[in-house]
Amino acid sequence: GDVILSVKDLKRHFDVGKGLTLKAVDGISFDILRGETFGLVGESGCGKSTAGRTILGLYNKTDGEVLYEGRSVHTMTDNERQRFLKKMQMIFQDPYASLNPRSTVYEIIAEPMQIHGMYKTQAEMRARVNELLEDVGLNRDHANRYPHEFSGGQRQRIGIARSLALDPEFIIADEPISALDVSVQAQVVKLLQRLQREKGLTYLFIAHDLSMVKYISSRIGVMYLGHMVELTTSAQLYDKPLHPYTEALLSAIPIPDPDIEESRERILLQGELPSPINPPSGCVFRTRCPYAMPVCGELKPKWLEKEEGHFVACHLHDEEVMKRSDAVKVPV
Ligand code: SF4
Ligand code: MG
Repeated sequence: GDVILSVKDLKRHFDVGKGLTLKAVDGISFDILRGETFGLVGESGCGKSTAGRTILGLYNKTDGEVLYEGRSVHTMTDNERQRFLKKMQMIFQDPYASLNPRSTVYEIIAEPMQIHGMYKTQAEMRARVNELLEDVGLNRDHANRYPHEFSGGQRQRIGIARSLALDPEFIIADEPISALDVSVQAQVVKLLQRLQREKGLTYLFIAHDLSMVKYISSRIGVMYLGHMVELTTSAQLYDKPLHPYTEALLSAIPIPDPDIEESRERILLQGELPSPINPPSGCVFRTRCPYAMPVCGELKPKWLEKEEGHFVACHLHDEEVMKRSDAVKVPV
């Protein structure tokens, strides 16, 4: 497919006072193809949501570029931005916090259409809201009720209906199922997949673990402390992970089949995520990496394409670096 979104060496830093800088996103690059689901995965605090908001232009960039259909989202004219904000929508982790509790479901879903002046009559708008409610598995009787009258899963459906109101082509889903009961998660994922097929949507799907993402994404980018550490197809990431952090994320997924478990080395993540205000030198993962070598504190790993479309940032996969005398694997 063709590239719909291109993120090039994107940085988003925050000034946190006292001359300190929080490097929430510190140089990430990836393309998203039209119609695919691209998973962006990493622990909370690694910069995924900031990346999502910067891509949508809700945050200014510090450096780098975000191109949507070839146009920079940070330098658009007001007119271009209006059109862009119809095409790209965001759904959020907490469907309750993101829905105004004093608005009816009708008002919540109709609001973006009103802002963009999409319908001339109330009747047209009403019909469109009813259609959207049906699209997400709710019905017209729900329109006059309030968010608190719904379950978490239903509230997320309302949020999804609202995100579809302007007939977007791209949706950033920021942990849309993380706050839901496990039994409801699969239903919401199925809904998102059906909507993608029916409406030809492209998704950037943000998640803090790989358990659901690896089934629904065509490709996955793994983020750690503001950096992209690995990027490849879902299948490749699962079968042949290259980065120790990816291995650790995979190890955290319970494997139902004990035969599979034997074939994979399990890595447990030690310690906490370091502060992005004062990140480790060299490789940002080194303080938690079971394979860390002396060179890892000296040198920032390069973003290497090891096989076509399979990128990793780790010295273990850099033949040049591994020739150095300080590239010695310390026994775990
Ligand atoms: Fe671990 Fe070094 Fe690779 Fe970083 S570069 S992931 S510390 S082995
Ligand atoms: Mg987040």
